[in-house]
Amino acid sequence: MEPQITDYYNEIPNGVNVIDKMNKELDDVREEHKEEIKKLKKIYSSIIEDVFQYFRDEPDNEIMKNIFKLDTYNSQFVFKCSGCECIADERDILYEDLPDYLSYFSDSNTENKLCYECFNNGYTEFFNEIIYEHFNIECIHTVYTNEHTGNSDLGILLILLHIANSESKDKYNDLIKLLENYEELTYDWDGPPGIRYPSNQKEEMEEDNFIINFKKILKEICGNSALISNSRNSNYYRFLRSILSEADLDPNVSNDVIFNELIRCWKCWTR
Ligand SMILES: [Zn+2]
Repeated sequence: MEPQITDYYNEIPNGVNVIDKMNKELDDVREEHKEEIKKLKKIYSSIIEDVFQYFRDEPDNEIMKNIFKLDTYNSQFVFKCSGCECIADERDILYEDLPDYLSYFSDSNTENKLCYECFNNGYTEFFNEIIYEHFNIECIHTVYTNEHTGNSDLGILLILLHIANSESKDKYNDLIKLLENYEELTYDWDGPPGIRYPSNQKEEMEEDNFIINFKKILKEICGNSALISNSRNSNYYRFLRSILSEADLDPNVSNDVIFNELIRCWKCWTR
């Protein structure tokens, strides 16, 4: 824009004011569309929700099958429950404190998935005598494991036992240091405790990095055991991290005390 005589008296040339105004208008238009898109998305999802409700007991219906294929619903958390045979839409669990149920999805062999209600009916008391008999550790908490989580509960129990019985305090300290270092993963530590998912690539990379190091230390503590196998996905390690981060890990107390502290933290994520 050509400089004008008025520009001589103005602190900011006129052209700049015009450009500012144009930018503002452009922003307004963008904002309007954002609102429109938001509204459309809301309408779209409420229609789908209605269809879900309508076909709740008919997951094999052709319309329902097509909905499962839609991008929005093509999620491991939307499925036909193999217990009650209803359509389960458990995507909200991502933001709730249900790491035990989430870790259920970590077993890559889980094909016949259960909705949260059906899963929740599967808790059984884990007999502390077994722990005492095999590991000579007195467990003061009553632990409930879930019959549907297959071997993942057992895996967690054994890992916690290995950590508590860890002969090498160096490894134990490495674990504490690692958890402290990654405490700054902001997506996990803002807000209530529980499993949070990384929301962008940077956080994903940070978490991947954490899991690699976490597995390495756990393998050392458990004696290169098959417990830290690759058949488990991130949910399993997220769950383990939730338990360990919650625990007050003090290297100077006895194995029994460490074990019971770990069990207390595990227990509070289950029931
Ligand atoms: Zn069900």
